[in-house]
Amino acid sequence: MTIYQNLIAGEWIGSDATKNINPSDTNEVVGLYADGSAEDTKNAIAAAKAAFPAWSRSGIWERHVILKKAGDEIMARKDELGALLAREEGKTLPEAIGETIRASQIFEFFAGEVLRLAGETIPSARPNIGVEITRDPLGVIGIITPWNFPIAIPAWKIAPALCYGNTIVFKPAELVPACSWAIVDILHRAGLPKGVLNLVMGKGSVVGQAMLDSPDVAGITFTGSTGTGKRVAAASLEHNRKFQLEMGGKNPMVVLDDADLNVAVEAAANSGFFSTGQRCTASSRLIVTEGIHDKFVAALTAKLETLVVDNAMKSGTHIGPVVDEKQLKTDTDYIEIGKKEGAKLAFGGELLKRDTPGFYLQPTLFTEATNQMRISREEIFGPVVSVIRVKDYEEALATANDTPFGLSSGIATTSLKHATHFKRNAEAGMVMVNLPTAGVDFHVPFGGRKGSSYGPREQGKYAAEFYTSVKTSYTLA
Ligand code: ADP
Repeated sequence: MTIYQNLIAGEWIGSDATKNINPSDTNEVVGLYADGSAEDTKNAIAAAKAAFPAWSRSGIWERHVILKKAGDEIMARKDELGALLAREEGKTLPEAIGETIRASQIFEFFAGEVLRLAGETIPSARPNIGVEITRDPLGVIGIITPWNFPIAIPAWKIAPALCYGNTIVFKPAELVPACSWAIVDILHRAGLPKGVLNLVMGKGSVVGQAMLDSPDVAGITFTGSTGTGKRVAAASLEHNRKFQLEMGGKNPMVVLDDADLNVAVEAAANSGFFSTGQRCTASSRLIVTEGIHDKFVAALTAKLETLVVDNAMKSGTHIGPVVDEKQLKTDTDYIEIGKKEGAKLAFGGELLKRDTPGFYLQPTLFTEATNQMRISREEIFGPVVSVIRVKDYEEALATANDTPFGLSSGIATTSLKHATHFKRNAEAGMVMVNLPTAGVDFHVPFGGRKGSSYGPREQGKYAAEFYTSVKTSYTLA
């Protein structure tokens, strides 16, 4: 089998490899992917550092052409790359193709954005002095990504880093190297000068740690668990480096008595269970007012009966497998915790057997949960959702905000008054009205508050806040 290698200083290298396994069919090896060392990482950082002066001053047309070519190729290959994504991560083929399209759109957005880079000229407070405000790229950016969006998250970090003139060392998650390799290959063939984008696949504790420990990495953008995020933060403070963290969520969706029942059920089913609940924006707390509670639970349970859990590549599958054995154990452990805490298992909770061996779990719904239970406070990252019954809107809002996280917060209501009040008072980076808490656009800010995020927003023109450093220049005229 071919080994997909790391790209360091423009050369494909690496002979040690690990197997990329399909969670829908654990007999299938998606490919062999290089397992980089700390030495490889140091070499990649040195290459990115050496490439920085020229790339940071490269013409915007050169950057535009490369970003545009990447966006165009990803779109042209959306079905093939989507299938690769579905096979390595386990989300359904339509979800995977959708994510691939989004990756293409992100490159197209930053291909446009690079042509609009600008500064400001402002009169000084003093006579005969001009003031210019410009943005400089940071230098070498370390990109560390998780397994749940194998193509979109790498795209939304790589595209702005390149757009604003930075060079990159990129470490994808161990479980999903294939889409990352494909993006890097596309950008390399699109004409990126050597050393501008380096790919080091391998273990977080080896490759990721070597990035954290390097004084030559000027910024780290990280998406992953809270525990690793804290390590990124501590190491970055040590090196006086800029960092950006996207971590967990325990996103609430409020359902009020006046909600359109169909809208609420569709949004809750999507938020909680699509992509196997493995989205940081997934809604795992459904906070439902008394008047609609029983009707809502009955309708949602009926909807869950219709959802097909099966191989991600099969047409008709609504929910693919859990990503791996470790995550499956986390999910089933939390299901046991929920039962012990006294929540009522209203649907699911069982492992499933399918034609191909994989990590299949029923969508699982708990009712009669309280907001204090561990299943309501800790991120599970699987298709496990709790329903919390509340008296009225005021209690619903307070419950929604009573969480250590603050990424996305949703409400289903037909009341303009409640929707408006909720948008203003939800303690979250993103608010959804009559929509799932997950499923965001590619050209607007993404990120959260409290324990979910740290640092500037990602995506859209707000990405400049992380990938550049502002400079104020004064000139005597
Ligand atoms: P998850 O539990 O969802 O896999 P992690 O935070 O462990 O979340 O993983 C997110 C990313 O962080 C992955 O690319 C992983 O390899 C990387 N990572 C894990 N440990 C470290 C570390 N010590 N230093 C830097 N990166 C790490």
